[in-house]
Order: sequence, then C-alpha cells, then structure tokens
Amino acid sequence: MTGEVLTFLSEKKLELGPAGAHIGNWRSGRDEAGILWLVLDKADTNTNTISEDVIRELDAHIRSAESDLPKALVIRSAKKTGFAAGADITSFEAMSGSGAAELLQQGHDVLDRIEALSCPTICIVHGPALGAGFELALACDYRIAVDGATFAFPEVQLGLHPGLGGTFRLPSLIDPTEAMTMMLTGKKAYTKRAKTLGIAELVVEERHVASAVCDVADGNVEKTRQGLKARALEFDQARSLVARTMRKETEKKAPKEHYPAPYALVDLWEEHGTDEKKMQVAEISSFADLLKTDTSKNLRRVFFLRQSLKDAARGDDHIAHVHVIGAGAMGAEIATVCAIKGKQVTLSDLEINALGNAIKLAAKICKAKHLSDIETRDALDRLMPDPNGYGIAQADLIIEAAPERVDIKEEIYAGLKGKMKKDAILASNTSSLSVDLLATYAPLNSSFAGLHFFNPVSKIDVVEVIKGKATDSQTAKRLAAFCGTIGKLPAQVRDYPGFLVNRALTPYLMEAMVLMDEGVSKEVIDTAALRFGMPMGPVTLADQVGLDIGLHVAESLADNLDKPMAKISETLCRKVESGEVGKKSGKGFYDWSEGTPHPKFDGELPADLTDRLILPMINACVEVLRKGIAESENQVDGTMIFATGWAPFRGGPMHYAHSRGVSEIVTRLKELEAAHGPRFAPDDGWNTIG
Ligand code: NAD
Repeated sequence: MTGEVLTFLSEKKLELGPAGAHIGNWRSGRDEAGILWLVLDKADTNTNTISEDVIRELDAHIRSAESDLPKALVIRSAKKTGFAAGADITSFEAMSGSGAAELLQQGHDVLDRIEALSCPTICIVHGPALGAGFELALACDYRIAVDGATFAFPEVQLGLHPGLGGTFRLPSLIDPTEAMTMMLTGKKAYTKRAKTLGIAELVVEERHVASAVCDVADGNVEKTRQGLKARALEFDQARSLVARTMRKETEKKAPKEHYPAPYALVDLWEEHGTDEKKMQVAEISSFADLLKTDTSKNLRRVFFLRQSLKDAARGDDHIAHVHVIGAGAMGAEIATVCAIKGKQVTLSDLEINALGNAIKLAAKICKAKHLSDIETRDALDRLMPDPNGYGIAQADLIIEAAPERVDIKEEIYAGLKGKMKKDAILASNTSSLSVDLLATYAPLNSSFAGLHFFNPVSKIDVVEVIKGKATDSQTAKRLAAFCGTIGKLPAQVRDYPGFLVNRALTPYLMEAMVLMDEGVSKEVIDTAALRFGMPMGPVTLADQVGLDIGLHVAESLADNLDKPMAKISETLCRKVESGEVGKKSGKGFYDWSEGTPHPKFDGELPADLTDRLILPMINACVEVLRKGIAESENQVDGTMIFATGWAPFRGGPMHYAHSRGVSEIVTRLKELEAAHGPRFAPDDGWNTIG
C-alpha cells in the first residue's frame, strides 16, 4: 500500500515553466523573471529523439533568443519518459550518403550557438539523456539532474561515436579519462555518479526544479571545474600514453577489425585533445565515415531487430498476478523480474530454503539493476514466498519452473486442476520437453504454452513464447504482451526439439566437444569463436550453461530430431557423472575457481575449425525456418543475437549467410559433410533462402 502512495507521489507533474506557444516539437515561453523555457515535446510519440526537425526548430528558437536575450535559457523535456533517447536512428540510413557531414554540421552550428549565448543556459534532465540528447545537454552551461536522471553515450553499440560535439564537450567538462570511458563503453552515469563526475552541477527533486533554475540564473551556482588530471592530459605525450592503454583495454572486448568506432574515437582524442575546433571538424568526418561501415550498418540493423521483437509485445496482457512454481535457478529470477516490473508475484517451492534464497537473490538483483531503496522495497513487497501455493487461485499467469522431468511437471499440473482462475494461463519454462506433450497434462491445453526464459533471466532479454498445437492465439498474444510488460523481447515460435535457440546452439556446443575429442585444445576452439565475434567460446559457454543441462538438451535433441547430430562426447558424459558440471560446481572443462576463464591462443587456427562451429548453427536456423518454427529470418537473427550474443556486428546468422553468399555456404557444408559426416548436410531449406 505504501508503495502505491509513493508511486503516486513520484508521478507528480513536471515543472515546465510558463504556458507558452507550442509549435512543432517545442513549447516555448518566458516566465516573469525573463527566463526563456524551451520544452521538447516531440510530436506523436512518448519519447523524445533529436531528429532533424527538432534541431531545425531549435535553431529558430535560439535565433530569437539571440535577438532578444533572455535572463537565462532553460531546455528540458515534457515527456515523462525522460529527456531524450538520442538521435533518430531511422534517419541514419538516409545520412549514410554524402550528405551526412553537411547535416551534422547544421546540428553542430545550433549547439555552438547555444554554447555562445551570453546568458546562462541550463538543461534540466529527468530520466535518460542519451546520445544526441546528452550532447544537447552538454552544449548548455549547467545541467540540473532530477533524481533518477541517467546520462550515457550508447553510440558505440551502433558502431559509432558521439557525433554532435560529445567527443570534445564531455572530455572538456569532466575528467577526460572518465569521459572517454563513458563514450568507449556506453556505460550509464546514474544521477549520483553524474554529480560526482561533474556532469550535473545540481541534483534536485522535481519539486525543487523551479527554485534551482532561479539559483542558477541568479549566478548562485558554481560551474563544474576540471581537476589537475585534465590539465596533465593537455600534453600530447601524456595523452598518447593513456590512449595506448585505452586501445589495449578496448581490444579485449571489441577487436578493431570488428568494431572500428572506439578506435576512431581514441584516435580523435589522442590527435586533437583539447583543441575543440579541430576536434569538431574531425568528429564530423569520422562519424560520417563510420556511418558507412558494415559494422555500423549491421549494428543499426540489430537496433531495428530489437524494435521488431518489441513490436510483437504490444497489447494488453491482462496479467496482474503471476504465480511461479519452483524457486530454483530459473524460478527465483523469473519471479524477481516480474516483481521489479510491477507484477504481484507469489512463489512456491517444496523447499523452504529455496524460497529464502530466492528473496536474497531478489535483493541482489535489485541492487545490480541500480534500483533506489524505495523501488527495491516495493519490488520485494510484491514478491511473496508462498509455500502452500495460495497464489494459484489468484494468479492470471502460472509459470512452472520445476525440474526438467515430465513426471514432476505432470504431477504439478494435476494439482492445479480446478484451482486456477477461469482465464488464467499456465506456462512451462521447459527448455527441452515437448510443449505439446506437456499440454496433455495441463488443466486446459488451449491456455497452455511454453515460456522459455534464458539463464540468467535478469540479464538475457529474449523469452521464447512457444505456441503448442492446442495453444489458442489469445494465450500466445497475452504471453507475448506479458514479456513486453516485464521488459523482455518475445520470440514467438512453435513447438520443436530445442525450439529455436537451443536447436541452433546445440550443434555448435556439441561440435566443440567432438573437436576436443579429436585433440583440438579448448583454448583453440574458443578462440575460433571469439575471433568470429561470439561473446564467449562454445566450451566456456557450455561450462557456463552447466554441462548437465547441455547434456540433457543434447540427448533430448538427438532423441527427437529426425536429423543426424554429433555423437555425444564421452568426456562430456564423464564430466557430468563426476559432478564437474561447469561454473556452478567451480569446474567443468575449465577451472572457474578464479572467475570466468579467458582462453588465450595467438596462433593460426586449423582450416575448417570456424566453419565447423558456425555453419551447423546457421544450417539449423534454416531448418527451423523451413519447418515454420520461427516466423522470419529477421526474427531468427534478433532472437539469436539477444539470446546468445551471436556476433552482433555481423547482423545475425541469416544476415551473415546472405553477406557471405548462400551458395558458398551450401558448398562449404557439402565439403564438411564429405570430410566429417552427415551432420553437416545442408538443409533442404537453403533452396528457398533467397
Ligand atoms: P532447479 O533445480 O534449479 O529448480 C527447480 C526448483 O523446483 C527447486 O527449487 C525444487 O525444489 C523445486 N521443485 C521441485 N519439485 C517441485 C514441486 N513439485 N513444486 C514446486 N517446486 C518444486 O531447476 P532450474 O534450473 O531452475 O530449471 C527449472 C526449469 O527451467 C526446467 O524446466 C529447466 O529445463 C528450465 N530451464 C533451465 C535453464 C537453466 O539454465 N537452469 C534455462 C532455461 C530453462
């Protein structure tokens, strides 16, 4: 109850200054003190982006401010969602041609004129100020952060670096190494950190915004000053030294051949340092060059793949109360994520200890997600341990996350009969059992489906929504919408061994085991995948997932698919028998006692190695498409990238297949089939892939 009251209080109105003219995307008006308020309220959307029209209209407002100088200029957003989500990425496609530099120059001119205004300029930021939104804020003299504000430059995730002055305005405002780290990693600075770094001069609650503006306008607030380190980095040699370290650190996470943007950024900074004018010219030309790279094109594609998965989550889920059965590795996280996103959650388990551990884990996840104390308390209030299963009768959705055994699930479903609400949905988090088989035990098979979360649930965005033969479309739709309400991306697929993701991933993991049995070292195998662009190699991944789980999925696929699979490795079976099941037991193929292993191998890779790992995965994607398990190539690409981290700069497995050439891949598969066996035989679906 308290939670609701506080939520209500926190939703009070934004201070938007005087009610002035509202033309295009901006509202403007001067208050009694002569302060000009420019309020960004982008038309027909609930999130501001910094598009060409926003900049053009801002230009007109700044011109009128220049001719009739206000006491101060305030820029803020009228949207509850935050200040601005960055540039309008849809416009990047059109900018990739020769006009990019010209358009960027126009944006720079407007921001330069804001910077040059002789009155104080103030940006009020609530919620996210990202990319170009952050750059607009940086062009102002002062930034007032409302509690909950975040600042970040996510451009690297699009294969770019800041392009509207961020590359020189942030390093000249705060410690330049911190500024570079923010731009190189895309990491967010939450309110407190933003104040400590010097990004925001003031942090206030919304109700104090008006008086904070007056304080700044009256000259009562000091501007951020840089420390001594910034002065030291004015020297070329010092900068070169730091730049070298930055390149080395970046190389560990994003090799230059795959991700050129961070290196271009370090080059800019090393070369031009504090010379803002030169840096500006170089930033524009470097940004325009990066726009044309395959990496950036593919990463922008990934952005839109996310959007299209999100689109599938539209609509109302009619799910207020979720009951989770099984508080183990998966159930505890599923329950937590639901509670954080505002669902009422009950969680049951046969073991009281599992429930206690789940609550502890929930508190940890809230912390890791930077939730405030109030948000954490509210989330934990909504998460109720329920050993007796009282929540079953109230729940709109029951998620079963009990052990992966048909008999256990059958018994649980039998216990639900006659107890569930009329319109409630039952979903299983099974990763390898047939949804159609489980549906035969469900109280009502039309409102039963698979809801396959990935481990760790709090970090992996994709959830497979598996529509069984009997699942009605309303149930599938509500589950997809439910994924949206808990911040996940639904991949709507049909029942099939391994569904989409495990079907595609298993041959990759199994091939790694075969290669090890052939005598190829795990470091060499993992390096091949890393060099291709995977976030981790298959051996490390198998250890991370859990060798017992991997073995179980592989056996289930071998039993149920009508396609040849790699023989299950005896070493894998022995490891599982001896309890060396990977990360969770401290040892699998790697020793995890000192954290995640980082396999090292600098030599040349055996000729077929990378194709032996990667092509079977794509072959399985083609099979899944041919069988109508997945809806489209884009859905496959998005799902594989967001569920497994599949080399994002390559745009997804199907996109990669097209870029490399379908006929070349089919030829390679045939060669591998001849050399290593029928598991490599190209799927019939390749014939229909354009
Ligand atoms: P787990 O063994 O960690 O947890 C299962 C929990 O269910 C345990 O706490 C157990 O006490 C409880 N339980 C057993 N019988 C029960 C019953 N009758 N009623 C209520 N609770 C009961 O298992 P997990 O790894 O969380 O897997 C759960 C499900 O999620 C499985 O279907 C699994 O295939 C699937 N899954 C697991 C992963 C993963 O990586 N672990 C990933 C995706 C899907």
